[in-house]
Amino acid sequence: MSDLTEIRDAARAFIAEREWQQFQDPKSVMLALVGEVGELAELLQWLPADEARALSREEPLHTRLAEEMSDVLVYLVGLADQCGVDLGESALAKIEASAAKHPAEETRGVAPQK
Ligand SMILES: [Mg+2]
Repeated sequence: MSDLTEIRDAARAFIAEREWQQFQDPKSVMLALVGEVGELAELLQWLPADEARALSREEPLHTRLAEEMSDVLVYLVGLADQCGVDLGESALAKIEASAAKHPAEETRGVAPQK
């Protein structure tokens, strides 16, 4: 799996080659991200919940999901880049904070509460 820095750098190069830096700001990139989340949701929205996992592994849906997930990831990494957030470090810190908030020995097999 590629790391987030590699994705960020590839996106920066893609943008620079097209001189699109002028269109990159936190609000614009966030709106693009929301649009891509909508495209991803559209692929899954009417699948029966109990069949969605199996169907997601079948073509052509599998490839379409990968494409839209990639769009979401690239824009999320771009938003983090615009805001100066180290997304990998922040995500790991959030997982660590969640682990502290929901100790496994107290929450195993129980749906998370607020
Ligand atoms: Mg898309």
